[in-house]
Amino acid sequence: GVIWYDGKMCPWRDATTHVLTHTLHYGMGVFEGVRAYDAEQGTAIFRMRDHTDRLFRSAHILQMPMPFDKDTINQAQLDVVRENGLSSAYLRPMCFYGSEGMGIRADNLKVHVIVAAWEWGSYLGKENLEKGIRIRTSSYTRHHVNITMCKAKANGNYMNSMLALQEALTCGYDEAMLLDAEGYVAEGSGENIFIVRNGVLYTPDLTSALEGITRETIMTLAQEQGLEIREKRITRDEVYVADEAFFTGTAAEVTPIREVDNRTIGNGGRGPITETLQTLYFDQVHGRRED
Ligand code: PLP
Repeated sequence: GVIWYDGKMCPWRDATTHVLTHTLHYGMGVFEGVRAYDAEQGTAIFRMRDHTDRLFRSAHILQMPMPFDKDTINQAQLDVVRENGLSSAYLRPMCFYGSEGMGIRADNLKVHVIVAAWEWGSYLGKENLEKGIRIRTSSYTRHHVNITMCKAKANGNYMNSMLALQEALTCGYDEAMLLDAEGYVAEGSGENIFIVRNGVLYTPDLTSALEGITRETIMTLAQEQGLEIREKRITRDEVYVADEAFFTGTAAEVTPIREVDNRTIGNGGRGPITETLQTLYFDQVHGRRED
């Protein structure tokens, strides 16, 4: 396979970097997670331009100068999927600092950009899209660095997510639910969270969760269904007594949550509103919508 690397297609095995790569040491860089569906049938990469826009916003927040324009990064994504002959793929655009110097300052370093893609199935397990997952409130919180970075997908901030997921998996759960510094529900390690109660859809406001593109897609689909949506602070016990709960993310798509901290949610399976929104989501990503 090939990886787009600083403007050129590069064989997969040669797409390497130096051990003194600044981002490897200090963790500052930006990235995206994007999915392509049915690429061989010509379906476009799902919301590609929105992901590219967020990548550039992330770089702007971190004051990381982007050496390429948006059109080039969009074209790179399309080319990577096509040249690798992929059908349904996960794409990873990523920007990182070079190895010209050590120390914290980075304004004198080169910024490198890669776009890689590979076939990737359901992130949290195919059967869990139907059955739902079991999650656990994390002892790791969505701390202030993350909280000021709700608009950026930045590499360094994933230590928190990784520790939270690691803890959840070690304890026998499928995913983690992170609270913010004040104890309100924030998000999963790589997903936004929604709950349903009495037919109303709730999701945490964006003070402590990433501005998720799937979150926005789901809110639009829910609106089209005439569902009432409320963005607000959500407490842990509000999740316990929800009729339904689910995660959204490019990787996780729409994954039902059947249990939180050993409390069964609703009927302990995929709820009806979750199922409707999930079906609409898959129809949309597979380009099967009528309108
Ligand atoms: N929250 C975090 C921390 C993430 O890493 C992601 C993944 O991208 C999401 C939420 C979901 O965002 P999106 O729907 O844009 O993929």
